Amino acid sequence: MTTGKQYVDSVFEKVKAQNGHEAEFLQAVEEVFASLVPVFDKYPKYIEENLLERLVEPERIVSFRVPWVDDKGQVQVNRGFRVQFSSAIGPYKGGLRFHPSVNQSIIKFLGFEQIFKNSLTGQPIGGGKGGSNFDPKGKSDNEIMRFCQSFMTELSKHIGADTDVPAGDIGVGGREIGYLYGYYKRLRNEYTGVLTGKGLTWGGSLARTEATGYGAVYFAEQMLKARGEDFNGKVALVSGSGNVAIYAIEKLHALGAKAVACSDSSGFVYDPDGIDVELLKDLKEVKRARIVEYANARPNATFTAAGEGSIWDIKADLAFPCATQNELNEEQAKTLVANGVIAVSEGANMPSTLEAIDVFLNAGVSFGPAKAANAGGVAVSALEMAQNSGRTSWTFEEVDGKLYDIMKGIYENSAAAAKEFGQEGNLVVGANIAGFLKVAEAMSAQGIV
Ligand code: NDP
Repeated sequence: MTTGKQYVDSVFEKVKAQNGHEAEFLQAVEEVFASLVPVFDKYPKYIEENLLERLVEPERIVSFRVPWVDDKGQVQVNRGFRVQFSSAIGPYKGGLRFHPSVNQSIIKFLGFEQIFKNSLTGQPIGGGKGGSNFDPKGKSDNEIMRFCQSFMTELSKHIGADTDVPAGDIGVGGREIGYLYGYYKRLRNEYTGVLTGKGLTWGGSLARTEATGYGAVYFAEQMLKARGEDFNGKVALVSGSGNVAIYAIEKLHALGAKAVACSDSSGFVYDPDGIDVELLKDLKEVKRARIVEYANARPNATFTAAGEGSIWDIKADLAFPCATQNELNEEQAKTLVANGVIAVSEGANMPSTLEAIDVFLNAGVSFGPAKAANAGGVAVSALEMAQNSGRTSWTFEEVDGKLYDIMKGIYENSAAAAKEFGQEGNLVVGANIAGFLKVAEAMSAQGIV
């Protein structure tokens, strides 16, 4: 009889053979697969149904040309993607990323993670992701609009309120969702909840902007509670200074912690007085400025350029990586541990390398993996879909209260699954297993599709 380990290893070999050049995708798959071995030992019928090999192959990948005209009248061409990974438990759901680094491997890793994350929220949403190697930085509003319209011209053929519901991610915020939604509506003549992260006057949900950052902090609160700790007086590092980072900092301060550092790709700022969130919002959400401007505006704050130091060298109790994938490596994890970090909650997707995760787990640091800790964003997106379907809108407190309960539930389910499968305290294993089981049951019930 095939053991769980033999089955998982054999599928991973096939995945490597077929996707050897997709480093980020393989990294995400390796992390999940390692956790699932005991599940296949317990449920051999999933081996008979070859469930893992089916799950790791996207249901559909669309790659398309996005031509647009810049302000100088020159024709530019970018590449667009949508990966529709799994619709086992609901319509595909996952963000769009506009960043020059975007390629098929990055979109596939994000889409694969999204399957488990969405399952963990307890809501009926499948996994998908998309984006483009378009760089919104330095582009005029008109250029962004023309790009979004060209992107949506193709994307609109593949999405729909009951089929696939994209949202924002890196480089895609309220402005981009507005242009994308407006064009979808024009092309299809339908006012439906086909995108989430919409503006409040045209179908958006209160607390969606705040959801991912707040959620990562609510998740950390559960991890601290399990250690008999709370946020009071704790010092935190938050990388990034985008949507997730800003609202993680805001919630940390509201709950009694002090975030003293944040960053962008040009470097990081250290502010021993605590990051001034209103200043950060003005610089990043309104002026779209670089992070050095924060240090220029605050007498006690310092700026360190990228490459001349790391935000993870600062002494702190808590770390919230909220920028991008693989931004926290083994050495940096060791530094954080040596400096006394007790909890790490991942706001970004796959920000810690596999080696860094091992360092945290071996040191007894409470570690909240991305698919659990940052699920608050997609959870509130699903609440936005529910409000759109019901032609209604809920108050901020109502949505925030549901978000809190969802994050608490994700923590509890992940912790329980880790315990059930003999890895108490390991939320990486717990989140992977808890997310997987629901999808596996649905796939098994729906036959070979
Ligand atoms: P934003 O575009 O709002 O902000 C991204 C931030 O990360 C910016 O400060 C950016 O700096 C920095 N960053 C991006 N790429 C790099 C890089 N290669 N090196 C260093 N810094 C970088 O994105 P979000 O805040 O929405 O997303 C951040 C992370 O959170 C991503 O991993 C995303 O997938 C994840 N996430 C987001 C959700 C959401 O609801 N928005 C939901 C769940 C996860 P710069 O401006 O210089 O590029």
